[in-house]
Amino acid sequence: MSVLVFVDHTQGSFKKKAFETVNYAAETARRIGGGDVVAVVLGTVSNDELNQLGQYGATKVLHGNDARFDSFNARAYAKAITAAAQQSDAKVIVVSYNVSGKAVAGIVAAQLKAGLVSGAIDYPSTDNGFVVKKTVFSGKAFAFVKINSDIKVIALVPNTFGVTKGDGAVSVEALNLNLGDADFGIKKVSEEVVKGEIPLSEAELVVSGGRGLKGPENWGILEDLGKALGATLACSRPVADAHWRPHHEHVGQTGGTIRPNLYIAVGISGAIQHLAGVNSSKTIVVINKDPEAPFFKAADYGVVGDAFEVLPKLTEAVNKFKASHN
Ligand SMILES: Cc1cc2nc3c(=O)[nH]c(=O)nc-3n(C[C@H](O)[C@H](O)[C@H](O)COP(=O)(O)OP(=O)(O)OC[C@H]3O[C@@H](n4cnc5c(N)ncnc54)[C@H](O)[C@@H]3O)c2cc1C
Repeated sequence: MSVLVFVDHTQGSFKKKAFETVNYAAETARRIGGGDVVAVVLGTVSNDELNQLGQYGATKVLHGNDARFDSFNARAYAKAITAAAQQSDAKVIVVSYNVSGKAVAGIVAAQLKAGLVSGAIDYPSTDNGFVVKKTVFSGKAFAFVKINSDIKVIALVPNTFGVTKGDGAVSVEALNLNLGDADFGIKKVSEEVVKGEIPLSEAELVVSGGRGLKGPENWGILEDLGKALGATLACSRPVADAHWRPHHEHVGQTGGTIRPNLYIAVGISGAIQHLAGVNSSKTIVVINKDPEAPFFKAADYGVVGDAFEVLPKLTEAVNKFKASHN
């Protein structure tokens, strides 16, 4: 018996959310009475990188070392994860509730005749069956889902937990697979990679702008604050929809889910769909000229004021603070 975790990588290197899923699988294994924590990794990844997974709780890695996996393909990935689950006699399969995890979780669950919890936000409880907590209605309520099937699939919301590093070691084995070209029938024709920034999913500091900033020409004041703090930029959905900012900056129910140490929301009303992606941030600061803006209810600190006056002053204060502490 084991817990299998599908570990995503970006061009051969693992990111924070990958380690989080491995931590989660290890804790799940502990809760269901032990067993191996098997990480399945697909595509070209060095042994040094794979060996790191031991430090996050994996006991074994099954590596599908096939360059055809270097480009994500839901059908081939799902088949490989199912094969890994069978090869390791997995009773629980963990994936991240991100783009690739969402794409494969349902297929893997169907192939294994397993119950699935999509968007889990806690470890399974085994006090009364196998019960997993998830959010529903964009984070307005929780559901506790009991899975009765022998095999269970859990898709964990990224950034739900912090990451803990230990000193464990893994053995690396080849994943036995026999996939034909038909399994890789869908081909990626282009890819745009954003360079030079800490990706939102990894960022500890995030400065985010909404429609209150009036237009893309005003983003300079937000960028100045981001630069002063060393923060990554984010935005609300209408801002991305209006092409004021690129879509990868959009956070919320239909965008990214983030859990930075500090989230500064500027000119964002705090609609429930926006909060769904940011309300796990450790500290939330809201700058809004409307004292009735719903975001203030979720804020740790709030500034009622005009962003065009507050932001330059805040940036100046940060820069002064930095200068006096150098
Ligand atoms: C199915 C569905 C999914 C959705 N998914 C998402 C999602 O993932 N992410 C998301 O963000 N939204 C999402 N939305 C949209 C969401 O409901 C809101 O419409 C959106 O978040 C509002 O964006 P906003 O706060 O930038 O704009 P607005 O609601 O227009 O708010 C602008 C805010 O700026 C303030 N303001 C104005 N001028 C200033 C100023 N000078 N200084 C300071 N403050 C000022 C205003 O008081 C106001 O609170 C979704 C909606 C639906 C129906």
